[in-house]
Amino acid sequence: MKEYLKKLYTNDKNKYFKLLSSDLKHNHKRFIITVNPETLMMSESDNELKNILDSNYSFVPDGIAVVKAARKIGVKVTERITGIDISEYLLKLANENKYSIYLFGAKEEVIDALVNKINKEYPNINILGYSNGYVKDRDKVMKDIVKKKPDICMVALGIPYQEKLIAKYFDKVNKGIYIGVGGSFDVMSGTKKRAPKIFIKLNLEWLYRIMTEPKRLKRFWNSNVKFMFKIKK
Ligand code: UDP
Repeated sequence: MKEYLKKLYTNDKNKYFKLLSSDLKHNHKRFIITVNPETLMMSESDNELKNILDSNYSFVPDGIAVVKAARKIGVKVTERITGIDISEYLLKLANENKYSIYLFGAKEEVIDALVNKINKEYPNINILGYSNGYVKDRDKVMKDIVKKKPDICMVALGIPYQEKLIAKYFDKVNKGIYIGVGGSFDVMSGTKKRAPKIFIKLNLEWLYRIMTEPKRLKRFWNSNVKFMFKIKK
């Protein structure tokens, strides 16, 4: 697990955003993996996910537990860089530069609401395609993405499905920022609320998510709590 913490991006969020902006300007491709305790714990029993973490993608520290664990072993991570922050930044950047985008994931009504919102609030974004995340044939959607060559591709299917799908097709594209964004479409579409600013500032976003969705408690135990025990050991 140490080797994965050492691969995390350590500078601040704004510097990372500048990298993304430069990638898009120069048509460089990038696969962003937002690393949290769940990703790291799952990789212990999931070889496909482990292979992804062993690869040379762009790893950002998502959860506060990951930031703290990295610091504990001397990796000077500056701050959390979350999937939703990156997604919101990419939408803004795409609107300013008329970039194209493909959105894959979440429930039908959520993706429809998100597309409506983008059309209204980010009118310069060129939406090349979108699909809800409950289709039978996920590969068919990915093949459409490869064919359409978006500048930005967001996949919201949850860990580890989104990362595995992107990894399977990433070699077939030669441009674009690809990112698995978990529940970000639910929030960006306005379907779910992100934690209030004070929770985010105090690094308690995880607590807000458990309070508002108690069924997350089991997931939290299996990922974050076990992760913290492991790091202590
Ligand atoms: N999802 C999906 N297809 C599936 C299962 C899940 O599109 O078969 C979506 C789900 O609707 C949600 C996202 O994947 O929008 C996962 O959200 P979650 O909050 O679990 O992710 P987290 O942010 O915790 O990683």
